[in-house]
Amino acid sequence: ASSEHSQRAILDAIEQQFQLTDDALVTITKQFLEDFRLGLGEYNHPMAMIPTYVTGVPNGSETGTFLALDLGGTNLRVCEVQLKGNHDFTLRQQKYRVSEALKTGEATALFDYLADSVDAFLTETASSPTSAPADPFASSSSSLDYLEGNSAAIPLGLTFSFPVEQTALNEGKILTWTKGFSAKNAVGHDVVKLLQDAFDRKHLHVRCVALVNDTVGALLSRAYSAGDCLLGAIFGTGTNGAYLEKVENITKLGNSAARQRGGHMVVNCEWGAFNNSRTTLPTTPFDNKLDRESINPRLQAFEKFISGMYLGEITRNILLALVDAAPRPLLFNGKASRELNQHYGLDTAVMSEIEEAWENGRVPTSGKAEGVDGASAIDTVGVATESKTNDSLSHFTAVEELSAEDQARLERIRSIIIQRLSMDAADVSLRDAAVVRWAASLVARRAAKLSGSAVAAIMVQTGHAKLGGGYVPKEDRFVIGVDGSLIEHYPNFNARLRESVRTLIGEEVEKKIELGMAKDGSGVGAALGALEATKHG
Ligand code: ADP
Repeated sequence: ASSEHSQRAILDAIEQQFQLTDDALVTITKQFLEDFRLGLGEYNHPMAMIPTYVTGVPNGSETGTFLALDLGGTNLRVCEVQLKGNHDFTLRQQKYRVSEALKTGEATALFDYLADSVDAFLTETASSPTSAPADPFASSSSSLDYLEGNSAAIPLGLTFSFPVEQTALNEGKILTWTKGFSAKNAVGHDVVKLLQDAFDRKHLHVRCVALVNDTVGALLSRAYSAGDCLLGAIFGTGTNGAYLEKVENITKLGNSAARQRGGHMVVNCEWGAFNNSRTTLPTTPFDNKLDRESINPRLQAFEKFISGMYLGEITRNILLALVDAAPRPLLFNGKASRELNQHYGLDTAVMSEIEEAWENGRVPTSGKAEGVDGASAIDTVGVATESKTNDSLSHFTAVEELSAEDQARLERIRSIIIQRLSMDAADVSLRDAAVVRWAASLVARRAAKLSGSAVAAIMVQTGHAKLGGGYVPKEDRFVIGVDGSLIEHYPNFNARLRESVRTLIGEEVEKKIELGMAKDGSGVGAALGALEATKHG
């Protein structure tokens, strides 16, 4: 019994480290607001707050046909986007692989490859190359004429999901590569020029008119489909957000023409870097280990608590600590598989699958099941309440006392663990399955709550809410566009995020927030960026 007691103390201590009290969330949100202010004031603060030169959001009536090029994810994508002007669009796309050699070689080779991909796309998919009208912006035709000699070059929007210091809608210096890219002679250069030079070398009749970040793409594309949007946010491999700010608040623009024009401008927060000073977020030993062993220690601190790239790794660190616990292992008979021993060997998608197996087997205790499951929950308006998950350890201290349904759910989780982590079945008990689900939900719940803090901070920053609640909105709705596997697929992520927003700024505002997927955000967003560029000539 005393060993049972000490096991429990170890698990309780871990659970304690992952708790975020309401007070802690408020403190974090206040720090967010302070970091917004610093970043809007000058460069060289942890949160870059990059002005994007996008000065408004679409309302859905926009029309035209544009090319979009998306670099920054696993694949390179080329799309043709036709905006129909009724919140609707059609999109044709092709994915191209970017080899390691291209990612790490000379920048000209990489950009030549981008240009070749656009060329290949136009050649392969051109429906009827002679039917394009002279003015592609006013066109609702689906074909793009890329043949040289036609009057107007095809406008292309580039979604480039790396840090860029933007100086115009079609101009921005690459600050640094991330995500495994390291092409030489690119950092410090204008990415639009690098791309345009490659188009010109190939005599392609294509003009890169706009450069947008993926968060800006999410914001623009959601605004197009919903008619309005105040924040675009990504919760995928990484996390970041872009929102519509009053130009007068972007004081680091000084007396520039953009500042004098006034109005609004989209700001790319680069909020993944929040807490790089490491003063605000309650960090556990599992986070410290992750950071130390990462390729960018002390950078992207917030992202490391939140995003798909890292949640599996934090969870793996917890599981290993339990496998190694002394005097007696607390998990898997003290054994670990090759996957479990491998850096980043536990994919966040596996956590998602485990939580899903638990949630889907749940018998609703009262009333109807609420919209919390995956993508469908995302498009709901108003409050999505998490079904009351009991994360307490009593849930699995005595597996044999659980209901038959709960045991069946744990059995499913057990098979997922055996399969996905290549564990020996004899080393995975039902209790182990319960412990793994508990660890996953601790990590994911903290991530969702912190994400809620970023969203709440934006609501306060834009004057739509007050920290602590009490703001009575005049607006009918607040539209937020989101993208990324985590928010789209992770069970309860949306509900947990909303719960945190509600805690921070009150239910009056929270229930008017419409969180919606920004469908094809980077393609449609780049097209809308290109359209914006044509308005400014
Ligand atoms: P990106 O952000 O690169 O455009 P995604 O939005 O698909 O791509 O995010 C990929 C990340 O999401 C990976 O870190 C992966 O571990 C995680 N992921 C993939 N599938 C799921 C899932 N079903 N549930 C939760 N996370 C997932």
